[in-house]
Amino acid sequence: MMEIREKIREWYHINKRPLPWREISDPYQIWVSEIILQQTRVIQGMDYYHRFLERFPNLESLAIAKEAEVLKVWEGLGYYSRARNMQAAAKYILHERKGVFPETYKEMMKMKGVGPYTAAAVSSIAFHEPQAVVDGNVQRVISRLFGIEEVPGTYTSSSRIQAEAYSLLDQEDPGNHNQAVMELGALVCTPTSPDCSSCPLQQDCVAYLQNRIAELPLKNKPGKRRRRYFHYLVIQDREAIWIGRRTGKDIWEGLFEFPLIETTRPYSTKSLRATSEWLNLFGSTVQALQVTGPFRHILSHQEIIAKFYHLNEPPDFVLEGYKKIKLGRLDPYPLPKLILNYINRK
Ligand code: SF4
Repeated sequence: MMEIREKIREWYHINKRPLPWREISDPYQIWVSEIILQQTRVIQGMDYYHRFLERFPNLESLAIAKEAEVLKVWEGLGYYSRARNMQAAAKYILHERKGVFPETYKEMMKMKGVGPYTAAAVSSIAFHEPQAVVDGNVQRVISRLFGIEEVPGTYTSSSRIQAEAYSLLDQEDPGNHNQAVMELGALVCTPTSPDCSSCPLQQDCVAYLQNRIAELPLKNKPGKRRRRYFHYLVIQDREAIWIGRRTGKDIWEGLFEFPLIETTRPYSTKSLRATSEWLNLFGSTVQALQVTGPFRHILSHQEIIAKFYHLNEPPDFVLEGYKKIKLGRLDPYPLPKLILNYINRK
């Protein structure tokens, strides 16, 4: 194992990308980078990382910000609960821990939105605690390197991967070791067509030696996405438009959107005008001036089919829970990417 560890260390030393969070030891900044990089490509994440730290350079500034400001910086990155959880964790540290960032894996696990992956990454990188990180990249490298055949996502497979990750861990320099294995997974041992000819572990790798790279790690059948039909009502008079904040435990909680009618199947404009939601809002006289879409928007477990209905605001129109915003003043409001794309389309 010693030799494998050294090969990884040497490879990393020569090949690592010079990413901004590699040169820091501040746990707040490392935590920010780790949360942003979950579900996000490095190139896109880098931009958000800089923007986030520019606006919230320390824990206190994040804790005391308005939620809409935090979501605005996060706009377009998706998985918005990450941003809300970060702010909740910052408030917890500020109020319950006198602003002192937790220094151990165990203490970090008390922060909202921090699971074993983030706690292992931040504690090993910022405080050199010997915790092995297991993310998607590490899982792939380890499954191939050790020829792990258990079905992914099962208890047996997770504990086997975890055990191998710890057996491989460099106890002296766990932070760099963890980053090295993740980097190897990101740059060389990629999901399809890994570059085995430049891999330092070629002669140790079960998948390579047994010619089973395409087969490992074993794949889960993709789950079926839930399809939802969103009908957005773009209600405007000459200079303002109606928007409201999404509430409830659903996608895009806390973000703003146009008034919405949701259906479980496709609706024609005629059928939409006959729904109780439409009739309650507009009665039977108001017509959509223009209908745009459908647009398909894919999320991890959901598929949204969206249409946008442009309407002139009827006289004396009031919409409880929504507000009228001057056109051109939408900027401070965090919007889901689906709406941003619609507004910014050519
Ligand atoms: Fe991955 Fe190929 Fe290296 Fe094995 S030899 S760890 S499959 S890149």
